[in-house]
Amino acid sequence: MKECCEYKTKENGACQCEACNHFCTISDGHVGICRVRQNVKGKLYLLTYGKVAAINIDPIEKKPLFHFLPGSKAFSFGTFGCNFQCANCQNYDIAQISGKDMAKNNWGRDLEPEKIVQLAKSNGCESIAYTYNEPTIFWEYALDTMILARKAGLKNVWVSNGFMSDKVLDAIIPYLDAINVDIKSFDDEFYKTNCRARVQPVLDNCKRLVKAGVWVEITTLVIPTLSDDEQMLRRIARFIKNELGDFVPWHISAFSGAISWKLQYLPDTPVEKIKKVQTIGKEEGLKYVYVGNI
Ligand code: SF4
Ligand code: SF4
Repeated sequence: MKECCEYKTKENGACQCEACNHFCTISDGHVGICRVRQNVKGKLYLLTYGKVAAINIDPIEKKPLFHFLPGSKAFSFGTFGCNFQCANCQNYDIAQISGKDMAKNNWGRDLEPEKIVQLAKSNGCESIAYTYNEPTIFWEYALDTMILARKAGLKNVWVSNGFMSDKVLDAIIPYLDAINVDIKSFDDEFYKTNCRARVQPVLDNCKRLVKAGVWVEITTLVIPTLSDDEQMLRRIARFIKNELGDFVPWHISAFSGAISWKLQYLPDTPVEKIKKVQTIGKEEGLKYVYVGNI
């Protein structure tokens, strides 16, 4: 547990967290939407600082990042909680856990930033990936690690839903080398009903990241009936081409109901559908359109 960096305390003792675009107002004893940032007597604390929920050495292509250090290993870790509640979440066993439950049950493994960097180096990794759950909600822990990683000659990559605030982007961009951002749909209604979030901040952040020179790749999960409308997917492809650049890779990923949090009743995405979306991406002028999970 460590005090958060970007928040305001109001006269009534409530804290306003400024880490992501939810800007939660949190009263004493309570946590924000992500359930890992808690107001304790007018101060906001990150309950998951130094606590790792999942850790792996992955090929960087698994993030997925196909155009950044190809063939290299990424030391990958995540904590608990998420600022989204995607019904399709595959990592719900860690992403939909509260910081209070984590502490009560003593879940997770203690790993300070120094130790993460040391493990990444000793395992021959060229980068550290902040992944599995949303790094924005543990960004203070991530940033402390990123600063040490940069000094040690390692690259930093985030796998993100892209909903961080401007202040968090300001803080991380100097140390961030690459990021894969989910554009889950171009439809705000999908973001509201499926993820309890909004799409516009994600689009704005993608533009800012590219402009800042961070290497960006985009992923879209095609969920039958929920995010498989071809006109909508064409709008994502146009956005990438016109607002980010035709060189930005687009990963189109097939949905699998069996491993989702709440969508087991939906069928898997047909291979033909994924290939059709790949064709749409190419028709819209994207140079790199990849298919995954098929
Ligand atoms: S990170 Fe986002 S969801 Fe979590 S408390 Fe802060 S504003 Fe709320
Ligand atoms: S943003 Fe990712 S980790 Fe968070 S709920 Fe959605 S799918 Fe799960």
